[in-house]
Amino acid sequence: MTHVGKKVEKEVGEYKMASGKVVGNQFVVTFKDTSNVIVNAIRRIILDNVPTFAIEDVEIVVNESPLYDETIAHRLGLVPLKTDLKSYNFKDECKCGGIGCALCEVTMTLKQDSEGYVYSGSISSNDPQIIPADDKIPITMLFPGKKLELNIKAVLGTGREHAKWAPAHSYLKEEKNGEIQLIIEPFGQLSGKEIYNQALEILIKKISDLESKL
Ligand SMILES: [Zn+2]
Repeated sequence: MTHVGKKVEKEVGEYKMASGKVVGNQFVVTFKDTSNVIVNAIRRIILDNVPTFAIEDVEIVVNESPLYDETIAHRLGLVPLKTDLKSYNFKDECKCGGIGCALCEVTMTLKQDSEGYVYSGSISSNDPQIIPADDKIPITMLFPGKKLELNIKAVLGTGREHAKWAPAHSYLKEEKNGEIQLIIEPFGQLSGKEIYNQALEILIKKISDLESKL
């Protein structure tokens, strides 16, 4: 790695040490003497590159609810899923060659035959680590005697492909004393701290990839 790269990596390492703190539903990292270019780069990486799980494929077995199949699939895509980044690959980078396997897909089902709202909490996952972050998101509703049965697949993706994979809202706040605050408001897939640390890992990787091309 070149001199410049080492310097940047050292700086990024220091950001990792600069502890952020949880403030209500936000994770706030305060930067001193740092260019807002670099803080903004971290923000962009959070929005575009930090991966999460989302529902990508919905097979409708029975849909006797009043909503169209596509509407149900769309709503399911927006349910944030708790994400474990250590155990899974991106589907298109997986050993299976993108066919789909236990290392790149999580299988779920949703079955309900009782009347009333169908909530995200009715989704049952074959991996207890990858489940809806919120049980109370309404998907559709059922009249008496009607049922819904779905087979679902969730995969890792990034906000750059589709907003449903974005892990958080994130923005910068510039203070009068010259400090910059990076505000992260997680959607529930990962904690604010996990999102921030993951973004720094990606930043370091981007820098070294860039350098290897120079
Ligand atoms: Zn696979």
